[in-house]
Amino acid sequence: MNIVILLGAPGSGKGTIAGKLAAEHDNLKHVSSGDLLRGAVAKGTPAGVEAKGYMEKGNLVPDALIAQMIKDVVAETTGDITMLLDGFPRNLAQAKILEEMGAPIKSVVLVDVPDEVIHDRIAGRRTCPKCKAGYHVKALPPKVEGICDKCGAELVIRKDDNPETVKDRLVVYHRETEPLIKYYEEKGLLRRIDGDQGPEKNAEAFLAAM
Ligand code: ADP
Ligand code: ZN
Repeated sequence: MNIVILLGAPGSGKGTIAGKLAAEHDNLKHVSSGDLLRGAVAKGTPAGVEAKGYMEKGNLVPDALIAQMIKDVVAETTGDITMLLDGFPRNLAQAKILEEMGAPIKSVVLVDVPDEVIHDRIAGRRTCPKCKAGYHVKALPPKVEGICDKCGAELVIRKDDNPETVKDRLVVYHRETEPLIKYYEEKGLLRRIDGDQGPEKNAEAFLAAM
């Protein structure tokens, strides 16, 4: 098993790219820290109960909480698999925790999208609460409005996708996560792709870069 890290702002489309590639390639596995956390919140596990308040405000949850979840997934992933790690690490402390887990990092791909584009994207974002598929009312609409193509569930707007929280999440991204760009650049692991080419081309560019 090895790891490809997806770096990018909230709404940069990294989850869409990773989901699409994992669906198309048996050896790729999409691991989203946000999905793991939302799953824990929905189930009401102790970690979920602790994470909920941070997430609703658009703040990062404590490093140890998310790190333990990632550690568990890394431990259960073996064989000829490349893990597309989406949403973790989100700050320097988490990057160091990931290194201590010992799984080799193959590359880090930055999905580059300007802040203005991000605001529009998040405003149109819809999510399937059941199978976690992501949609956009304009850029990636489901075949039937409001209904998940894959499982038929009714799509929802995530609680933290309201404009005020989005602003806070972007602030957190610039302050906490952006320093990782330089960190991985210095390690010679960083690649960049233009994340504003549409879902199909974004995924192609990502696959070529990783
Ligand atoms: P987005 O990338 O669109 O902001 P995510 O689904 O990745 O959304 O994350 C949603 C929320 O989950 C974040 O705003 C944060 O509260 C929490 N979260 C996700 N990953 C991490 C992480 N690595 N460290 C701390 N908090 C996280
Ligand atoms: Zn679904």
